[in-house]
Amino acid sequence: MANRRNSCNDRVGIMQQGKDTEIFIAGSGPVGLTAAIELRRRGYSPRAVDPDLEVSRQSRALAINPRTLDLLEQSGATEELLAAGHRINRLLVRHNSQPLFYFNLNLARHRFNFLLSLPQSRTEEVLASTLARHGGTVERGTALEGFKAAGGKMEIGLSNGSSAVANILIGADGSHSTVRKSLGLGFPGESAEQVFGLADVELDAWPFPWDQGVATLREDHVVAFIPMREGFGRFITTKPGTMNLLPTEAKPSRVVWESEFRISYRQAETYQKGNVYLAGDAAHIHSPVGGRGMNLGIEDACWLAWLMSQGRASEYTLHRHPVGEKVLKLTAQPTNLLTASSPTAKILRRWVVPNVLGLNWVQKRILPSMLALDTPPPPWL
Ligand SMILES: Cc1cc2nc3c(=O)[nH]c(=O)nc-3n(C[C@H](O)[C@H](O)[C@H](O)COP(=O)(O)OP(=O)(O)OC[C@H]3O[C@@H](n4cnc5c(N)ncnc54)[C@H](O)[C@@H]3O)c2cc1C
Repeated sequence: MANRRNSCNDRVGIMQQGKDTEIFIAGSGPVGLTAAIELRRRGYSPRAVDPDLEVSRQSRALAINPRTLDLLEQSGATEELLAAGHRINRLLVRHNSQPLFYFNLNLARHRFNFLLSLPQSRTEEVLASTLARHGGTVERGTALEGFKAAGGKMEIGLSNGSSAVANILIGADGSHSTVRKSLGLGFPGESAEQVFGLADVELDAWPFPWDQGVATLREDHVVAFIPMREGFGRFITTKPGTMNLLPTEAKPSRVVWESEFRISYRQAETYQKGNVYLAGDAAHIHSPVGGRGMNLGIEDACWLAWLMSQGRASEYTLHRHPVGEKVLKLTAQPTNLLTASSPTAKILRRWVVPNVLGLNWVQKRILPSMLALDTPPPPWL
């Protein structure tokens, strides 16, 4: 269906978006849910579908950053996220067991001067309940299969055999986006060779404060730990086999989730074509170092809803594509530094970077990036 409908997409023209506009959202992960919330908050009644029968059970994105907390405050989600999440105030970087420096997130000049650690499954639950409070819902067990232009609108084919008509389509359907593919848009970029590992682990013993992340640099890999609550957190390793690479101080009692992943850097050439828009992983994917993927997508969704309410949706790519490009680069730099095996990289990692990053004034300069406050401030806040 996707291919058959493809050829007509160019004929879907840009239009103004009045409150009675029929908006269809494909995908109800964190980004689709946010788009639905922000549109409902502004008086629209979008229809959202997702093939999954319930919100994701995987913990995936852990870090919610201050920009996201700002953005979701007006909808009421932030209050619930803050109550559910666990605050990370500091990050210790060490070489084997020798401390090198602390990163103090509380130095940031922002009321949310920390990272909020919360499994993505819980974040999605909070967003789904926020959407319900705003009168919205997700039709689960239903996927978009394709779409075609029909009389100035779009006719959308669904997996249950029915079809829907909409003026606007938002593709928040993840990195393998059917919407993006149906538009014929490329997803240029590259996939790195290196495989990372992660394990969400309950711990009987861990000697560090539970509001602190710990990154342990070793000869040929890095192990990072991010607490999710007291006695529970995620280890991420720059090579697979995380459970065999835990710091000796960690005494695990139960492995809740273990996985491996490869990093890709890809971005759609444009985030919109006619009245079809891409947001979140459908538009960009990058390294999880820095914990920005989900946050960046939530930001896309908020901007899109605001631009639509201003009758300025045609500016969406203009505002968001450069931000995506910047975040792709910003996450690639530390990832490359953490994973490179050349002698120069090892010296940089072991001696130069720790000395520079240990300086208070340097930390203050890079904190905005660590907390994702380096993207354009939302004009409506
Ligand atoms: C191991 C790991 C760790 C990560 N850590 C972090 C982190 O710490 N911080 C961070 O910000 N990000 C992190 N990320 C990235 C984050 O998980 C993603 O960026 C985020 O899930 C993107 O949200 P999304 O809504 O765009 O896409 P998804 O979460 O992929 O949701 C897409 C939704 O679309 C639905 N869908 C698919 N096809 C269709 C269709 N045809 N029609 C309708 N619906 C469809 C899917 O069922 C799904 O529910 C991590 C990712 C991984 C894998």
